[in-house]
Amino acid sequence: MERKETGLFRAGFVAIVGRPNVGKSTLLNRLLGEHVAIVSARPQTTRTRILGILHGKGVQMALFDTPGVHEAKGPLNRRMVETALGTLAEVDLALVLVEAGTGPNLKVEPGDTVRLVVEKVRRAGKPAVLGINKMDRAPRETLLPVIEAYRGLFDWQAVVPFSALTGENVDRLVECLGALLPEAEAPLFPEDMLTDQAERVLAAEYVREQAMELTRDEIPYSLAVEVEEFDESSRRDRGGLVHIGAVVLVERESQKAIVIGKGGSMLKKIGTRARERLERLLGAKVFLRLTVKVEERWREKAAALKRLGIGP
Ligand code: GDP
Ligand code: MG
Repeated sequence: MERKETGLFRAGFVAIVGRPNVGKSTLLNRLLGEHVAIVSARPQTTRTRILGILHGKGVQMALFDTPGVHEAKGPLNRRMVETALGTLAEVDLALVLVEAGTGPNLKVEPGDTVRLVVEKVRRAGKPAVLGINKMDRAPRETLLPVIEAYRGLFDWQAVVPFSALTGENVDRLVECLGALLPEAEAPLFPEDMLTDQAERVLAAEYVREQAMELTRDEIPYSLAVEVEEFDESSRRDRGGLVHIGAVVLVERESQKAIVIGKGGSMLKKIGTRARERLERLLGAKVFLRLTVKVEERWREKAAALKRLGIGP
């Protein structure tokens, strides 16, 4: 075993925090080599926190992907922000993510949200690393002033530019994080455990990911997905199938019509794309049955949020 050879083993928890859309979920997926956290071009895609476990040489890193921190309006968004900031209290180390902007999006000065995150990190008394993501689209000369501007904000353990999309400098980021974790006698999690997300939950998330990506306007934020059937009784058979039945929740009849599409075309597209991902994850053929249901204002109802597993 590696830890006996080196005599030193490190293990601990890291919270990935930052504004919506900076690439927190993309980074987690890149680190794990699996699609455990859904990703979309739309902000506020991640609604719960997701644990991913990285098993490295002499180190085990348990990373929490969290919802983006933003000025929250409404119960759903407030819960998401509480989840993200609450996670800081439970970890050994914070990875604060920002993105390197380009052209008209080039923002050198840290914004209010990052300042809020840093304040929370400070109050929680946690060490922190600053990750500057999306370096693939930022010319090097624009990175330097960004690094400088953020350096003054906090006593960072390290400042690391990287790209979650291309993988550039991700090794260096992992090295930095690993070295800052506490020494441990033994791993915290079994060595084959990748995530705390059950296959059933991932099935719902994969459907939501495609539905968010394929629909427009306010619809992505009105969507939730519940799996009502996950039957793998014939999974181990020859050519075995996993039967999955999922309900796509929307808030209005008009949204239901859009999600279903002309002659069911939109729902079919969502289903096909989600099924392909699920088949890769499960290593089995999947029969995915989707239905659409209207549940008015579910985002404002505590009971619905609880049922959907959203909240701290
Ligand atoms: P999150 O809200 O912080 O979890 O962000 P996501 O991981 O969902 O990513 C938001 C968007 O940024 C998606 O469209 C990603 O493909 C994109 N993205 C993430 N990392 C990178 C990166 O390193 N480079 C570029 N160019 N895009 C990225
Ligand atoms: Mg995310």
